[in-house]
Amino acid sequence: MKSKLLVEFIRDQYQTKEFIPLHAPTFNGNEKNYVMETLDSTFVSSVGKYVDKFEHQIARYTGTSRAIATVNGTAALHTALYMAGVQYGDLVITQALTFVATCNALYHMGAEPIFVDVSPISLGLCPKAVENYLSEHAELTEQGCIHKTTRQIIRAVVPMHTFGHPIQLDELVVVCSKWQLALVEDAAESLGSFYKGKHTGTLGEFAAVSFNGNKIITTGGGGMVLCRNEESGQHTKHVTTTSKVPHPYEFFHDEPGFNYRMPNLNAALGCAQMEVLPEYLAQKRQLAERYKEFFGNSDITFMVEPDYAQSNYWLNAIVCRDTKQRNELLEQTNAVGVMTRPIWKLMHRLPMFEKAMRGDLSQSEVIEANLINLPSSPVEIN
Ligand SMILES: *Cc1c(COP(=O)(O)O)cnc(C)c1O
Repeated sequence: MKSKLLVEFIRDQYQTKEFIPLHAPTFNGNEKNYVMETLDSTFVSSVGKYVDKFEHQIARYTGTSRAIATVNGTAALHTALYMAGVQYGDLVITQALTFVATCNALYHMGAEPIFVDVSPISLGLCPKAVENYLSEHAELTEQGCIHKTTRQIIRAVVPMHTFGHPIQLDELVVVCSKWQLALVEDAAESLGSFYKGKHTGTLGEFAAVSFNGNKIITTGGGGMVLCRNEESGQHTKHVTTTSKVPHPYEFFHDEPGFNYRMPNLNAALGCAQMEVLPEYLAQKRQLAERYKEFFGNSDITFMVEPDYAQSNYWLNAIVCRDTKQRNELLEQTNAVGVMTRPIWKLMHRLPMFEKAMRGDLSQSEVIEANLINLPSSPVEIN
């Protein structure tokens, strides 16, 4: 694969000789109108009609009972883990191949990660690898699932739908119920991605979505907790609102709370972005089709959606023949203003997680060494 051909191909898609970012937001819909309206109303903060509207839009779109808006995706995941009952000293199974926010959220619950391998098909947590780890290292007791060596409780499993590609959720649900583990989905990257017709983030007890500036739609900064039923939704809203018991003037808070509410100003942006989400999804799917065709007969693998799923193709990704080829492509594309990126360093290589327990991570290591993300902003269909 010649980087010159790749650069030409990408410039052709975006029809520009300027710098091409990995993923940039666009605001060509009602964004300005709605944001100006919140300014005029003075309801810019955590109460306002756009917060309610945005929560309803996300709940309806994902098919979940309740969606609770938060200041960002990390805050949504932090809240989701709290709601799922993760406690100080617990262990939580997740993937080493993820963005650091997944692990930060569980670290701030006082929990420790156990890193398990990903599937090369989805790039997300592999249910078989989770089962293998548990059957070797865990046992079921009256307290629940216990790690045989440290006697800590293994409380939850947090898979991440990498770049929007859904993991094998049915299989993971089976493993979680067998071992009595809470399933909390990090769906930060997968708004618009469906697993066998169900939206990602709706098979776990709780899930977190992100609306950071680089995600498929953005609220500037923002997130959402997806809750399986009305009751857990109300409780989630309560804890993101400092756990204040409603009263005309008394300050009474009945449990540890967060101040994680999304401001109305940001929700206004979110409501407008939801209106264009279907168009973005169509545009990104077409772009992915073209990448797939482009890499068709090369020595590079373009990551396509798993056959059981419909991906949002948030970030397009290729797996190179080897690390040398990856490094050359990274160097040569970035040098001419076409932004490409390697995948995140595996979490156990970061100082704060280097002592974490882990299973075999050989698939994660291959991907870490050879993957590149390519420009993926939605682009006009022509
Ligand atoms: C973006 C992202 C988050 C966190 O979202 P923020 O809104 O940036 O806090 C969490 N997990 C993953 C995998 C992400 O990509």
